[in-house]
Formats: sequence, structure tokens, C-alpha cells
Amino acid sequence: MGIRIGHGFDVHAFEEGDHIILGGVKIPHNKKFRAHSDGDVLIHALCDSLLGALALGDIGTHFPDSDEAYKDRDSSQFLLEVYSLIQHKMYQIENIDLTIIAQKPKMAHYITPMREKLTYLLKLKLDQVSVKATTTERLGFIGEEKGIAVHAVTLLQSVEDE
Ligand code: ZN
Repeated sequence: MGIRIGHGFDVHAFEEGDHIILGGVKIPHNKKFRAHSDGDVLIHALCDSLLGALALGDIGTHFPDSDEAYKDRDSSQFLLEVYSLIQHKMYQIENIDLTIIAQKPKMAHYITPMREKLTYLLKLKLDQVSVKATTTERLGFIGEEKGIAVHAVTLLQSVEDE
């Protein structure tokens, strides 16, 4: 019974800018994320789901905002560090399912590049990494284009079970 499930959720607000980084992919936009790191809300939610699956805390405990070392940091680095923790605990990722909730920018063109980036970072196959996007039909803070939220669900399997 070496199966563990994890959920992650993150939100980042926008401020004035010219692009966002989401899933490690640069997306042109008239805003950017207000954040200590690069604000990659998708990778943050994904990290939290991986940590959550093994009850290892969350991204805030591992990479605190108060630490200057993490300022403007490429969130891919967080993901790689979390990935090595998972490996250290003798688990492997079975699959990942991510849902981006954003009114704008339109995500359709960036879904495949994000899946490819995550596949590369986590040494997975493309069919193990799902990225979906939806809007809130203009309702609430997301609908008002004030920010983006991401839900992440991850299934881990114990390597020792194989
Ligand atoms: Zn975050």
C-alpha cells in the first residue's frame, strides 16, 4: 500500500507588468505576479501537492518568503528540490493533474509547453502530466483579472513496492 495522494492550492495577485511565468513558461500579459519569487503559482501548487502527499509541510516552510535567498528565484528550482525530497523518501510520481483558474491570459497555447517543461523537470512522460485551464465566468477576483489560482493533485507510489 505504498500509494500517497497530495493536494496543493495557490493564488497569486497581479500587478503591472509585461509577462507572467506559469509552469516555467513565459507568457506575455499586461500584468505580472506580485511575489517574492517569480510567482509561478502553478509550480507552487504542484510543490505543495508533492510535499502534502508525504506530509512534509508546504512550500512556505521549505522556502520561506522572509529568506532573501529566495527573492526573484526561479520556481523551477523549488520544484527540483522538492523532487529530490520525494526521491529521498523512496517515492516516485505516478501522475500529476493541475487546474489553472484564470480569466486572462488565454492558456490554450501554453498548455503543451507547460506539460513539456514539467515532464522535463520531473523526468516523467507526457501522459503523466495533465494541465487544464478554466475561467470563473468573470466572477470573483479571478474573473476580475486580479490574479490566478491553481489546484494540483499528485499521486505518488513507493519505489519499494515495485
Ligand atoms: Zn505561491
